[in-house]
Amino acid sequence: DMALKIENLKAEVEGKEILKGIDLTINSGEIHALMGPNGAGKSTLGEVLIGHPNYKITGGKILINGRDLTNATPEERARAGLFLAFQNPISISGVKISTFLRMAYNNLYPDEKMPLKEFFNMVKTVMKDVDMDESFISRSINDGFSGGERKRFEVLQMVILKPKIVILDEIDSGLDVDALKLVSAEIKKMHDQKVGFLIITHYQRILKDIIPEFVHVLKDGRIVMNGDNKVSDRIEDEGYDWIKE
Ligand code: ADP
Ligand code: MG
Ligand code: MG
Repeated sequence: DMALKIENLKAEVEGKEILKGIDLTINSGEIHALMGPNGAGKSTLGEVLIGHPNYKITGGKILINGRDLTNATPEERARAGLFLAFQNPISISGVKISTFLRMAYNNLYPDEKMPLKEFFNMVKTVMKDVDMDESFISRSINDGFSGGERKRFEVLQMVILKPKIVILDEIDSGLDVDALKLVSAEIKKMHDQKVGFLIITHYQRILKDIIPEFVHVLKDGRIVMNGDNKVSDRIEDEGYDWIKE
């Protein structure tokens, strides 16, 4: 079992304080939704959790099973079980998807030495599940992906890299209804295997398929409400105005 614990987390970007003290715990097998109006700081929290270098943590802690990863590198966080969707296209553009996935997998599981053929069979199976064309695997990273392709690639990484805690930011944006169903099915499979999720979303769309046990509302860098899916249902009907800061 695993717990991602966020304690009084504060962060700034470009010298501006965005996160003003976030407390949140995500355990194995739990689905949490983080909702909130545009500009609330949802993506900032996602970026800070995965260790994006543009965001500066100015207070608080990020712990995984009690281990302090507040200042850890993205690689260290991934090895601790956190899912990091591939975020920095520029540094490795030109690398093929296949090479990238194999490298990422080997970095996480250096002792496993899965034969190449077996590895790519696994990749192809997941690609079928999320309805990606097989040719995608030999394309280069960042090679003009559409919004939908980028999201599917994120899900492909999520399934292949077998993380313990997954953070997904707006995974439902740019996906049509059918693609969203496939993505939701992959999330459910992993949830059945006791993976914990933080699903960051402005809209309630994905939360029709994936019912969160916990819903948190972020406003102006603070969590202003903790509840369950009754909260997300009400947000769908009434927006965010009824929730006070
Ligand atoms: P959300 O995902 O909830 O819409 P964000 O985390 O993207 O919110 O943004 C929160 C605030 O931080 C916004 O005011 C946004 O303009 C600001 N912000 C986010 N990233 C940057 C950045 N790289 N540079 C400057 N301001 C940023
Ligand atoms: Mg935004
Ligand atoms: Mg955002």
